[in-house]
Amino acid sequence: MPLRFAEVADEAYRYPLTIKHLLDRALITSGDQEIIYRDQARFTYREFADRIRRLASVLSSLGGEEGMTISVLDWDSHRYLEAYFAVPMMGAVLQSVNVRLPIEQILYTLVHTSPGVILIHHEFFPFVEDIRRAVPGLKAIIAIMDGTDDPLPDWAVGEYEALSQAADPAFEFKDFDENAIATTFFTSGTTGNPKGVCFSHRQLVLHALALCGHSGDTRHRGFGIDDVYMPLTPMFHVHAWGMPYVAIMLGLKQVYPGRYDADLICKLRTEHGVTYSHGVPTILQLLISAADRTGTDLSGWMMVIGGSALTPALFEEGRRRGMELVCAYGMSESGPILTITRRLPGTEAGSADEGHLLTRAGVPIPLVSARIVDENMNTLPNDGRTRGELVVRAPWLTPCYVGDEAGSAALWRGGWLHTQDVASIDAHGNITICDRLKDVIKSGGEWIDSILLEGIVANAQGVAEVAVVAVPDDHWGERPLAVIVPAFMAEVTLAAINAPIEQAIAKSAITRYAKLDRFVIVDALPKTSVGKIDKKRLRAQYGAAASDSAIGASSVQGERASSPVS
Ligand code: AMP
Repeated sequence: MPLRFAEVADEAYRYPLTIKHLLDRALITSGDQEIIYRDQARFTYREFADRIRRLASVLSSLGGEEGMTISVLDWDSHRYLEAYFAVPMMGAVLQSVNVRLPIEQILYTLVHTSPGVILIHHEFFPFVEDIRRAVPGLKAIIAIMDGTDDPLPDWAVGEYEALSQAADPAFEFKDFDENAIATTFFTSGTTGNPKGVCFSHRQLVLHALALCGHSGDTRHRGFGIDDVYMPLTPMFHVHAWGMPYVAIMLGLKQVYPGRYDADLICKLRTEHGVTYSHGVPTILQLLISAADRTGTDLSGWMMVIGGSALTPALFEEGRRRGMELVCAYGMSESGPILTITRRLPGTEAGSADEGHLLTRAGVPIPLVSARIVDENMNTLPNDGRTRGELVVRAPWLTPCYVGDEAGSAALWRGGWLHTQDVASIDAHGNITICDRLKDVIKSGGEWIDSILLEGIVANAQGVAEVAVVAVPDDHWGERPLAVIVPAFMAEVTLAAINAPIEQAIAKSAITRYAKLDRFVIVDALPKTSVGKIDKKRLRAQYGAAASDSAIGASSVQGERASSPVS
């Protein structure tokens, strides 16, 4: 049996992997470095540390204590960053509330966490009466006025900034077990109610360290000392991919954009020289349009794209403007990052091969084990072709769905976390996410990957944005339906959409069943609370319509070909 630490090192300090230690070095090396909030506030790291202590003082004076949930409803701000540290550092649990969920779901999440204190931005004050009714154990609500002159509501114990100014800056953060829960939040709930996940200090620290480890191993630009960082993944969603923790650990200049406004983001990028961000493809698309409109130079801006697949067409749009784009893959349950793309040795920067690789999910970051399996958990080969469910292990995966035993057992069936994503893995470890299990289109006995098909259709003439969903079909079981946002003034035809699909079929890159026989034109695609295309809504909207042949009617300006598959 191996010797245990305690048997050989009685006196040694048992260094806990807790969030407070992410700050230690940054305060020595980057005390004067800045953290900026919109055009409204800027602080040095030294001031940031002081503000963390003050926030902890305020919270503990209001009854905040170890184990208590403290919930935040705010846009991306320096205040959120302060809560990312102060709340877990005092041993409490930070709940980042997805403010884009419908109010009934927000209440559902708050009822389940039962917070003692809530910090709430004035834009969400209309929710307060409902929240107070739903959460009887609530001790205090802190109002975030964010520069408005409105009077302080009478239900608030105080205003965030005023409370912080008046607070004791001498709060002392104790050491405690690294396995203490630090954060909780709810998945966006595209089906049914949102599911709660939770992460410990140790998990968040290891996730941050592994991301740094990956940075040295990508063969493209990593994340480091000369970067100016601006998160463009909401801070309420999976710790903004854990990157603010990395940025603090590295002592980087940081810019927080508040509620997303593409023009303001472009302005902040220029003013502060932002070099590193991350977000979903939708945000990249918005930024490209805003930059074209405002004449913003995007060159040299490194952006990690994840949350859904980046189409090669959008990748090229970004690259044409000088952006450096790579992809990452993960999910709420995985804290989130599992993989990031990595250039193969010998692949030339800017080549088509590189583009093909960089729009895939990438390779596992350090400490992540990933494999694809069949229904019986048998491992399938990493040959780049075989597809199976991706299952993973890493030290930072949620241990459970909070309060949901059956859901947790299914998530962890066989001791591996089930991603519910269909993937293939090649001999270099590159993972391609083919589809969500529930989005795969089953047509004529063949499986059509909606992500692959979308990537192909996005290249068709006149297409600005596309989603492909399954619609029921009497003969084929299901058929793919492309829901298309056309480019400005463009005319979209079935022949134009099918042109790149036919090329892909000729190269055996996709099954011949993927050829489209129908599409609809829309002004915009519905998006989820975290900015992904809401396929559930599209299925609900067009699935029924398809069966009564409404697709192709003038309301949706589509076309329908006579024979589905030639
Ligand atoms: P969420 O928990 O809301 O963040 O959603 C996680 C899901 O988003 C994953 O299970 C995937 O289906 C999808 N996803 C995340 N990253 C990617 C990616 N790079 N490519 C394709 N799908 C992705």
